[in-house]
Amino acid sequence: MNNQRIVRDGHIHSPYCPHGTDDSFELYVEEALKLGLKEITFTEHMPLPGSFMEPEFLKTCAPTLDVIEEYIKELDYIKAKYKQNIKINTGFEVDYVEGYEEKIKELLNRYGDKIEDSILSVHFIKVEDRYYCVDVSPEEFGKLAEKLGGVEKVYDRYYETLLKAVKADLGTFKPKRIGHPTLVRIFNTEYPLEYTNITLLEEIIKEIKIRNYEVDFNTAGIRKPYCKEVYPSGIFAELVERYAVNVVYGSDAHTALDVGKDFV
Ligand SMILES: [Zn+2]
Ligand SMILES: [Zn+2]
Repeated sequence: MNNQRIVRDGHIHSPYCPHGTDDSFELYVEEALKLGLKEITFTEHMPLPGSFMEPEFLKTCAPTLDVIEEYIKELDYIKAKYKQNIKINTGFEVDYVEGYEEKIKELLNRYGDKIEDSILSVHFIKVEDRYYCVDVSPEEFGKLAEKLGGVEKVYDRYYETLLKAVKADLGTFKPKRIGHPTLVRIFNTEYPLEYTNITLLEEIIKEIKIRNYEVDFNTAGIRKPYCKEVYPSGIFAELVERYAVNVVYGSDAHTALDVGKDFV
C-alpha cells in the first residue's frame, strides 16, 4: 500500500490461543526485534460471547474467561521487560457474532481499560437460527455453500455480517480496526469466485470510513494453502485505497516465526 518499510505488526496471537502454538511471548517479541519492528500488538481472541455452536468446537476458537486474565497479566510483565526495545500493546481480536452484541459489549466493558489496541473480526455467520464458521476447512465451506445455494451466497452472508459488525453498537471499547475483511476467500482456490456485489462492498467501506475505522491488512491468507492472497484483496482492497481508509499490517501470527511475515 505504500513504499515505506512496515515497522508495526498489529495482529499477533499468543501461547494462550487454543489453536495456536506454545511459542512464548518472548519468542514472538524476539522475532519482532530481529525484524526491526517498532510496535506490535498481541491480539489474542477475546473469549466468545456465548455457546452458539458445539462447545467442543468453540473451545478451539478462543481462550476461556479464566485464562484471559492470565494473558493480560503475563503481557504486563512482557511489556515491562521489553519496554526499552519495542512498544507492545495488549489487545484482543474480538469476534462479532450476530445476535450476541450485548454480551460482546459486556466483555469489552469488563476488559476495556486493559486493552490498548484491538480488532473486530467476523469468522461466524448466522444462517436461519444456526451459526457457521467460514474458515474451518474447504469441506465445511463446501457444505455451507451447498446449503445456501452457492458460493456467492456465502459471500453475501459474510459481507452482510461484516456490515453489521461495522455498524454494531458494542459500546465505548468497540475495536476500531476490521479484521481480515475478505476472510470468506480463505478457500478461494477451491471455490473460485469473482464477487460482483460492489454496492455491498462499497457500503461497508463507506461505513468504515465515516467512523474513522481502520482495516487489518492481513498477510495470513498468503500462507493459507487454499487462499494465496492477502485480506483484503481485489475490489475490496481497491475500495480501501479509493476511500483512503487507514490500513494496519497484521501477520495474524500463531507462531513466532510468522511475526511480520510477508510485509513487503
Ligand atoms: Zn487464531
Ligand atoms: Zn481472525
